[in-house]
Amino acid sequence: MDLRVEGKIFLVTAASRGLGYGVAEALVEEGANVIICSRQKESLESATESLGSLSRFFVCDLSQEEDIRALLDDVAAITDHIDGLFVNAGGPPPGSFSDLSEEQWLRAYNLTLMSAVRLTREALPLLQTADSPSILYSTSISVKQPIENLMLSNSLRSAVIGMMRTLADEIGPTGIRVNAICPGWILTNRVDELLADDSSSKEQIISRIPLGRMGTPEEFGEVSAFLLSPVSSYIHGALLLIDGGLYRGMM
Ligand code: NAD
Repeated sequence: MDLRVEGKIFLVTAASRGLGYGVAEALVEEGANVIICSRQKESLESATESLGSLSRFFVCDLSQEEDIRALLDDVAAITDHIDGLFVNAGGPPPGSFSDLSEEQWLRAYNLTLMSAVRLTREALPLLQTADSPSILYSTSISVKQPIENLMLSNSLRSAVIGMMRTLADEIGPTGIRVNAICPGWILTNRVDELLADDSSSKEQIISRIPLGRMGTPEEFGEVSAFLLSPVSSYIHGALLLIDGGLYRGMM
């Protein structure tokens, strides 16, 4: 299927590797231009080298308000519009309620919820002038069922879904679509590093996934590119799980 994104411009955040990189790669393969960001110039240089001439980067720490403002100023200096925004950031640290300090909660709030709020606010003027604009929030299966020992992620990602569903009503009439994608286990560098010395945990995780394997960043990227593209023009306010059947709820 032609996603009709050739020549369009997408901002894909936290994309020097992992899920974000998978999305940038899928969009570039369809002929789109991508602007990616993350914290380190060196990893961004190597990512854009692999992505090729349709990509460029800006350095940005998504937990910092001023960095997000500067990112969108930089983007606005090179284009008068963007066709899509993929909202993604690093994950907050694990921990149960009794382990977490006030400071850790506030840091996670900035990284997970406020990065989504700020990216949306700063990007809206650039999206408003595009033909078929769309925002896709990357969250987690944890918005459907909590994951053990991930108090911060379970709490703050659900708030992103609350914002997305409310935005669907508020900005749908302006023609900007909003959706969320909720990954289960996708075998990114981070997941690989996390489970590298723990093959029994990896086997245990896989045994609970009906498809019998983790997903790949390429699979995640292709579905995200579809949701960002004009081909999904009537999908709005939706949450899509990409989890190989891991979520067992009926709805
Ligand atoms: P990853 O470590 O492979 O990639 C993370 C990317 O985010 C890197 O490019 C990193 O440089 C960037 N990044 C991290 N913190 C940043 C910050 N403060 N500012 C800017 N860039 C930042 O991780 P991943 O597996 O791709 O995960 C991405 C997000 O998706 C995380 O929040 C993770 O918790 C969440 N998630 C991942 C999975 C999975 O199975 N991989 C499942 C559910 C949720």
